[in-house]
Amino acid sequence: MSTPSLLILAGDGIGPEVMTEVRKIIDWFGAKRDLAFDVSEDLVGGAAYDVHGVPLADETMAKAQEVDAVLLGAVGGPKYDDLDFSVKPERGLLRLRKEMDLYSNLRPAQCFDALADFSSLKKDVVAGLDIMIVRELTSGIYFGEPRGISVNASGEREGVNTQRYTESEIARVARSAFELAKRRGNKVCSMEKANVMESGILWREIVQKVHDEEYPDVELSHMYADAGGMQLCRWPKQFDVIVTDNLFGDLLSDVAAMLTGSLGMLPSASLGAPMENGRPKALYEPVHGSAPDIAGQGKANPIACILSFAMALRYSFDQGAEADRLEKAVEKVLADGLRTADLMGPEGGSPVSTSAMGDAIVAALDASL
Ligand code: NAD
Repeated sequence: MSTPSLLILAGDGIGPEVMTEVRKIIDWFGAKRDLAFDVSEDLVGGAAYDVHGVPLADETMAKAQEVDAVLLGAVGGPKYDDLDFSVKPERGLLRLRKEMDLYSNLRPAQCFDALADFSSLKKDVVAGLDIMIVRELTSGIYFGEPRGISVNASGEREGVNTQRYTESEIARVARSAFELAKRRGNKVCSMEKANVMESGILWREIVQKVHDEEYPDVELSHMYADAGGMQLCRWPKQFDVIVTDNLFGDLLSDVAAMLTGSLGMLPSASLGAPMENGRPKALYEPVHGSAPDIAGQGKANPIACILSFAMALRYSFDQGAEADRLEKAVEKVLADGLRTADLMGPEGGSPVSTSAMGDAIVAALDASL
């Protein structure tokens, strides 16, 4: 097989800083594990607007469609707050998600033991937690028509959004969740509101059908999304993979994220249909934004972005063992007590810089050989 290709879009604010550390990791895998990538870089967000007048140039979009995976830092910042909506930095990211048709958004909630004290929940509830929320990303109430604010027959304004899902939209994200479960704990819990929403009834029916016809060996359960929110806070370790729609996924993935502590630790992947080479269209990015309050100060935690690359190793390049190696290296560095400023507890201590954290993870990778 040819060398796998990666397009890096570092973006704005702390994006380029955390991506510099990811480049160290990518280089390490090339040098030490014979796992070289054909890496190209381009602009997105405000950085692209400054050069091209748009937050994502057509040539960059075309490149993103061609590579095996895109790795994105973050976009946005106060400098661009007053721009017209159509050219705001975030539009670059939305264009990527839309044109690559990335319908399956993966947000792991993984709690490293060394950080279990950071959670707002009791330590034994979250220590060792490892769950994955799969959120449908390209349909549902955020996209459904009709939508808008209009004046109704009684002369009162009303706001309308429409929850709408087709069978095929549900089936493809369900498949994505079952495939993931097969590589993990082999359990899927599907969440909707079939008790009060017709779209929920269809959701439940189609997920069950995909299960029965294609994945009978994966354990499947269904839960109402509100009960799911409660269970996530009560005993999150009961879950392996949760699959849900765009709206509930938005809420539940943020709840699950906070089980684990800091924004600087959270990776994500957005996957689409398989390409000709069998790899899914894929965009990997940290959950956090461009953090303008700390940009340029060497304070950013690069781990969310580094763990996003670990997801790329696992889901785009079929390198699960190397992804484990990278995640264990992160775990070791944290267990050794290294912390960037965002991970300092109330007792304080001396935080390490963005680059020192990256170097320590590379050293832990070396030690893993
Ligand atoms: P943010 O995620 O950038 O920052 C929130 C807080 O978390 C800040 O205090 C920040 O310093 C801290 N933080 C975030 N990432 C960190 C890291 N890696 N290490 C240490 N601390 C970290 O969210 P915000 O402040 O609401 O938004 C800032 C800008 O980012 C805005 O322009 C927003 O539109 C944009 N944004 C972009 C994305 C994205 O690119 N996917 C996501 C969210 C926000």
